[in-house]
Amino acid sequence: MPAINKTAIITGITGQDGAYLAQYLLGLNYSVVGLTRSYSSAGLSKLMKLGIDTQIQLEECDLMDYSSIIRILQKYKPDEFYNLAAQSSVAASFNQPIGTIQFNSISVLNILEAIRSSNSDIRFYQASSSEMFGRVPELPIREDNVLNPVSPYAISKATAHWIVRNYREAYGIFACSGILFNHESSLRDDTFFVKKVIESARKIKAGKMDMLHVGNIMIKRDFGSSKEYVKVMHAMLQHFQPDDYIVASGKSVLLKDIIDFVFNYIGVPADRYIVDEKLFRPSEIIDLYGDSSRARIKLGWDYKLDFFDVLTDIIDEIESAND
Ligand code: NAP
Repeated sequence: MPAINKTAIITGITGQDGAYLAQYLLGLNYSVVGLTRSYSSAGLSKLMKLGIDTQIQLEECDLMDYSSIIRILQKYKPDEFYNLAAQSSVAASFNQPIGTIQFNSISVLNILEAIRSSNSDIRFYQASSSEMFGRVPELPIREDNVLNPVSPYAISKATAHWIVRNYREAYGIFACSGILFNHESSLRDDTFFVKKVIESARKIKAGKMDMLHVGNIMIKRDFGSSKEYVKVMHAMLQHFQPDDYIVASGKSVLLKDIIDFVFNYIGVPADRYIVDEKLFRPSEIIDLYGDSSRARIKLGWDYKLDFFDVLTDIIDEIESAND
């Protein structure tokens, strides 16, 4: 095991990326402190699935409360701070625009203010999102493309993204944004598209569901692997210079092709889904894929996975966990 002896704080520790990042950092011999909004409702199932729940110091912290963050920074004196907590669903953000925009932007401001006033040497990672770019005139997306967000989620992430840049440029904080494109795993919540398709196909096969209901599946997204993408979050904070980085596979996939692949792999007839216009988003992006040359050149990031191979692994993992 490498002899790193650093302390990292992770917000959103109970989420998909929080769990994989914690696992990765523990493997590098970090002390990991995970922040949760409430001990009583903290869902530790993802950390338990990875067998790391007992290796993490869990702390309750309201990220909307600056003084709670100061208390945590003083108690743990972290070297690195990974901010993954967010209302992370684009679809849910149309139903909860105020909560999404308030939490996803003000929490970031609170953390950076706390870092600036207590220890400006702490290195900070922000979970930015490809959704910030919205409808773009040309693809692939690069870090300096204009932001044109088209959902409350995207607006919240764009706001946070500019807060990070401002703290880096104005105060010299080592603050990086990882602009991640969609990334999936068996730990993804069932409400997100890929996991929903897999779980629904399994239910249809078992006779527990009749049809999968989906929104607009004639759109394309750039999908990757969560397990792999968390490694580049860490790499960003080890570089000598803070920067923003696109993290993407470089290829987009039609959502309908994901349904066809999953149904075929699990053994469900190809026509067992219904496109339901009620599930369409009020505004939609047709295609998104990114160019991660900066991460590849500056951080030596070497991601080559084809998404259908990632998908196969996710399905196999879910099937074997349920055998
Ligand atoms: P996730 O599984 O939905 O996890 C979100 C985490 O944020 C959970 O731990 C959740 O805690 C926490 N959270 C939500 N609202 C909160 C609040 N009001 N106060 C405190 N904590 C709150 O998301 P993920 O896939 O791991 O994504 C991690 C980050 O990357 C998010 O910021 C997301 O927006 C961003 N991102 C994700 C993707 C992707 O494809 N996965 C792509 C680009 C960017 P609870 O368990 O208490 O709900």
